Amino acid sequence: MMLIIPYIAFFAVLPDFLHFEDLRTFSHSMIGLTILVLMALVVLHFLFKIRRAQVLIASVAAGAHLGADWLFGHFFPLYPFSSRYESLNSFNTYIDIQAEIVIFSVAFVVFMIIFLSARTIRRSTELSNSEKWNVVILILPFLGMELLEAAYFLQNMATVGLGVSRMVLLIIFLTTILGSVILLRSVISRRR
Ligand SMILES: [Zn+2]
Repeated sequence: MMLIIPYIAFFAVLPDFLHFEDLRTFSHSMIGLTILVLMALVVLHFLFKIRRAQVLIASVAAGAHLGADWLFGHFFPLYPFSSRYESLNSFNTYIDIQAEIVIFSVAFVVFMIIFLSARTIRRSTELSNSEKWNVVILILPFLGMELLEAAYFLQNMATVGLGVSRMVLLIIFLTTILGSVILLRSVISRRR
């Protein structure tokens, strides 16, 4: 249970770790993402002996990222064979921020339910050392990504100003960051 959140968190942002030009195209294509997810899973399995459920969660989370980018941006389904991109709505985050908030809120509620359930927290004391490292190794890059995104968001906000919806989004960002830190702390500061 405790390992579900890190797997969702890490694989949901995995494609965006490669957010530069062609690499972004690669990580946002079906083949590229499959390769990335497989590579990450092989490394994770080598380190931590992961289970089938984790493979499933990772695949769904990574797939959902492409789905979201399809909705709110674009992705390249057949790259490298074709650089044609697919996009359902060509608006970006700052123009249609309301839609983003709806999606974020749903994700956020799910996240919080898992996170706040007393069972999850209690389970953290039952994690093995290897599982503890597994959490850390997935949450740290996720946290880095969230910090970067929040910084980018704030920078943009400095030019367009702060509205109610942007405020909500900012709070969601900060809560994810705080949640990650709490999760890390609960894993690291655990006593045997
Ligand atoms: Zn993306």
